[in-house]
Amino acid sequence: MTLPQRDANAPVGTIARTSSDVTSSAFGQDVAVSFEFFPPKTKAAEERLWSAIETLEPLNPDFVSVTYGAGGSTRERTHRTVQRMVDETRFDPAAHLTCVDATREDIDEIAKDYWDIGVRHIVALRGDPQDGIGESYAPHPGGYAYASDLVAGLKTVADFEVSVSAYPERHPESADWSAEIDNLKRKIDAGATRAITQFFFSPDIFWRFQDRVLDAGIDIPIVPGLMLQPNVKGLQRMASLCGVAVPDWYVSLFDGIDDDPATRDMLTATLAAELAAELHDRGVRHYHLYTLNRAEIASAVARVLGMHKRVRARG
Ligand SMILES: Cc1cc2nc3c(=O)[nH]c(=O)nc-3n(C[C@H](O)[C@H](O)[C@H](O)COP(=O)(O)OP(=O)(O)OC[C@H]3O[C@@H](n4cnc5c(N)ncnc54)[C@H](O)[C@@H]3O)c2cc1C
Repeated sequence: MTLPQRDANAPVGTIARTSSDVTSSAFGQDVAVSFEFFPPKTKAAEERLWSAIETLEPLNPDFVSVTYGAGGSTRERTHRTVQRMVDETRFDPAAHLTCVDATREDIDEIAKDYWDIGVRHIVALRGDPQDGIGESYAPHPGGYAYASDLVAGLKTVADFEVSVSAYPERHPESADWSAEIDNLKRKIDAGATRAITQFFFSPDIFWRFQDRVLDAGIDIPIVPGLMLQPNVKGLQRMASLCGVAVPDWYVSLFDGIDDDPATRDMLTATLAAELAAELHDRGVRHYHLYTLNRAEIASAVARVLGMHKRVRARG
């Protein structure tokens, strides 16, 4: 099939690099990268996260984001992690925020607190149901029902930059593509200026989605989310809950290396860099890396994308 050639994202890079900084790989100066982290649950996990951050910080991502879960303690952890990034790193953190199990007033208060500590970017989501992905979702009475409502609410709190989700293989609860695209449009109409996608493994899936988006007149950047999960069984479990296809060819590459974490890491980085290169060929310039709070794979992929050049440009 010949897919129409269309430019993808407008570059969002904010850190100037000189022409001599062009990477020797296919990726040029205009590539932007963001890293996603989740708030750690234990002291040991927290130490691992901050050690990963130490490795990734010199790569100067355009922004980083911290996920948010249902339940008071998870929320606290997100806030603490974002606060520490503001206090102790050069990162520009975006806080994820969801509609789940909270009143509008509660959410507005959290958003205001973020604004007050200097956070200017929110990733606004409906959120996974409290009982877990795949369970049924019921809006909180008095809460924001869907992400589009949350985006509109956030804009009344302060002039946040707002990113939202997008689903190249469709959100499992969307009745059809028209409902999916209409929902994305609602989020943009409410004030979102960037969509970050669910992970996927085939560039064709992204191109088909982008064509739907462009045909609907949507022109905000659609940033592909690249999953860096080297545990392929865990990946398959997560993907099936999210309605994401993990191709057989991808799974089979991990055959026989369950006990070989180094090879699994290298393979995961190679495959993510390969997908990034295919997306780059057709105009993608911003990549969102699901780091899983680990540095090695994200650092390797970001370096292939040319982010290590930023170290020199700034140094
Ligand atoms: C980049 C990214 C980051 C994420 N981060 C987190 C996180 O930090 N914490 C977390 O809990 N989850 C996170 N998720 C998962 C996300 O919360 C789930 O996928 C959730 O099921 C949907 O959230 P959403 O914001 O996409 O929902 P929405 O955009 O609100 O859409 C959800 C579904 O509802 C439908 N819908 C929307 N509006 C209406 C309406 N008015 N009436 C009927 N149906 C409607 C949509 O078509 C869609 O099927 C993330 C997902 C992505 C892609």
